Amino acid sequence: MIRNPIPWPNGARCAVAITFDMDADSILHLEHADSHKRVSATSMLRYGPEVGIPRILDTYRKFDIKQTFFVPAWCIEQYPATIEAMLKDGHEIAHHGYIHENPVAQSREEQFYWLQRGIEIIEKYTGDRPRGWRAPLYNFSNDSADLLIEQGFLYDASLMGDDIPYLIQTDTGQLVELPSHWGLDDWPPYVHSLDLDYVMQVRGPAEAIQGFRSEFDCAWEYGGLWVSVWHPFASGRLSRWVEVEKLIRYMHEKGGVWFARMDEIAAHVAKVIEDGSYEPRVDSLPFYDRPVEAVWPGKQPDGVT
Ligand code: ZN
Repeated sequence: MIRNPIPWPNGARCAVAITFDMDADSILHLEHADSHKRVSATSMLRYGPEVGIPRILDTYRKFDIKQTFFVPAWCIEQYPATIEAMLKDGHEIAHHGYIHENPVAQSREEQFYWLQRGIEIIEKYTGDRPRGWRAPLYNFSNDSADLLIEQGFLYDASLMGDDIPYLIQTDTGQLVELPSHWGLDDWPPYVHSLDLDYVMQVRGPAEAIQGFRSEFDCAWEYGGLWVSVWHPFASGRLSRWVEVEKLIRYMHEKGGVWFARMDEIAAHVAKVIEDGSYEPRVDSLPFYDRPVEAVWPGKQPDGVT
């Protein structure tokens, strides 16, 4: 089913990275000029750093696993104690924009500014430059790969082009891509918010987790990569997190699973490529450098009727 499976460390069947995007209320402020008045939505989103993250960290400690949190730099400044708790337990803090801005809607200069500003804040709070990035709302632009390569990033986690890691190639260089997809994202089953303009039928936790478990079973069977794109304010809710704990236990008991931080997975991918034991698939970007048009040959020039 996977034509070019990657060798995982110690013969593991698959790699698992339970990644969280700790957006908190960053996703509210650029959307609404009156966001400071939207108290209920803010409380829903603050549940992430205040209640969700401590619960998630307890579980990771219980299973002795280290994971990756993608955090907008503005959230690092707003919730420093939460970041400190993540770092204390050895988790990775990766770049997720400054305040969840949309790179696709920005000029290259704007993108560079916010990327740079996020790097500085992560360095200040963690002591290390970030090694990975996930575009806010998967909004990876035609400039993103070049900017990440220029800034020395090792990996991106925004794209959906494969079941396993692959390489992104541009004229500037290469980047490891650790892909995921909407089937592993918790917004469709869980997020329902008029303030976020995202209204979905909320699924029960047992039903939602079944989809994530099926994704894992296939990754395990065929040697894939399982990267969740979850949010502490959504999946960190009590009944949902109880189901996640059961899923992690299930993964543990099945065995042969490499639980790892995203930077560890990317470093492994880079290593097996470098030592020649693996040849990855490569996507060259950008896919398109101008709008794709399908023009009817009989179309009259503009202004002619
Ligand atoms: Zn996000």
